[in-house]
Amino acid sequence: MLRRCLLAVSVLLSLVVAGCGNDAGGGGDGKVKVVAAFYPLQFISERVGGDRVTVTNLTRGGAEPHDLELRPNQLAQIEDADLVVYLDGFQPAVDEAVRGQAKDRSFDVAAVEALKDGPAGKDPHVWLDPVRLSVVVGQLADRMAKVDTAGAEEIRSRATRLQGELRELDKEFSTGLANCARRDIVTSHAAFGYLAGRYELNQIPINGLDPEAEPGPQQVTEAARLAKERGVTTIFFEALVSPKLSETVAKEIGAKAAVLDPLEGVEGGDTYFTVMRANLTALRDALGCGQS
Ligand SMILES: [Zn+2]
Repeated sequence: MLRRCLLAVSVLLSLVVAGCGNDAGGGGDGKVKVVAAFYPLQFISERVGGDRVTVTNLTRGGAEPHDLELRPNQLAQIEDADLVVYLDGFQPAVDEAVRGQAKDRSFDVAAVEALKDGPAGKDPHVWLDPVRLSVVVGQLADRMAKVDTAGAEEIRSRATRLQGELRELDKEFSTGLANCARRDIVTSHAAFGYLAGRYELNQIPINGLDPEAEPGPQQVTEAARLAKERGVTTIFFEALVSPKLSETVAKEIGAKAAVLDPLEGVEGGDTYFTVMRANLTALRDALGCGQS
């Protein structure tokens, strides 16, 4: 009995300590508890935090993040987190849950100043531009270093390494897409505004910003007409959304359909970098790009 009481007291104590902990990180294992709203944010949190953090992704692999609903245990995870990494305006359920949180325990990617000059129409898919993602990585590292002061140096050096890899990726995209026969990309939802802007491509989205919304027949006809007029040979669809819409348009103009992945969820052994490089290959094929 005494033993059980002591145990209860020590559990209680560790809970209290975890609740107050800041610079040492919150978890019982001494790691900083980070909750990331969806894959690209999980990816950068893990790369920047390394083994000083445990990262929980609110959107399970292979699921579409836009319409995420939070389970009670996920609400508890958010409440318990040392740092919540999210993108305001992308997932209303997460925005709602974070609203009650202390400001210094959340990092809003949408608040990063360098993103304010993004494409028109409130496109949230900023991670598809490696240059802007690199800016986000720098600011995330600053925030993480404040939460985990003992790990600040490590965090900053990991962020610098990741930024170098992103710079490399950006170079591959710029040279890979420099000499192309075409520059129009027809996509199912308007996820590629940041990518198109960075590499001077022109996005023709069949749908709006919501991948699940049903486009009207007029939207489909208009996209097909534009695609045909511009000599488009490939209609893109996304990994997590049914290809039906893109296939319909492709058939209508005698084009083929191929995957362009907005990286909203990643499965298997893929990472941000493997998917982005597959996207580059798909773009080069579709646009008839040569050596530069
Ligand atoms: Zn999206």
